[in-house]
Amino acid sequence: MKKRKTVRPASKAAAPVKRKLHDHVRVKRGAHGLGLFATGPIKKGEVVAEYWGPVVTDEELKRSRGKYFFELENELAIDGKGRKNVARYINHSCYPNCEPMEDVKAQRVFIMARRAIKAGEEFGYDYGREYWDTHIKPIGCRCGCGGKGPKRWR
Ligand SMILES: [Zn+2]
Repeated sequence: MKKRKTVRPASKAAAPVKRKLHDHVRVKRGAHGLGLFATGPIKKGEVVAEYWGPVVTDEELKRSRGKYFFELENELAIDGKGRKNVARYINHSCYPNCEPMEDVKAQRVFIMARRAIKAGEEFGYDYGREYWDTHIKPIGCRCGCGGKGPKRWR
């Protein structure tokens, strides 16, 4: 087998960023449309998937009317519409088994397991109250909370 040489743009001295994605994840149609599911056990604290895409300003995001995004600090956001961004399939949950962790300096976001997750479980994280109130509440939350939202908000 021939070894493929990695060609890098001359301007980029640093090694290309390797995006994180757990082996035990699969996009699947669930009870509520597409979601991301575990195909094997995931340990607490492991990265399930990196939420990735170009970093854009809030203004740019608004203009593109993107449905998939992750808000960062300093009025920036990750535009997550790219197909390779598997994390975009993770639905909101009011009782989440995952939580996002932001590396502010690197402008990267990792969705991590909050607890041990078994094969077959759907991943979910809390999209935050603002998003929930604006986008989820009006159509009814389908995470299993009965449309009430997380207990701590009540
Ligand atoms: Zn819910």
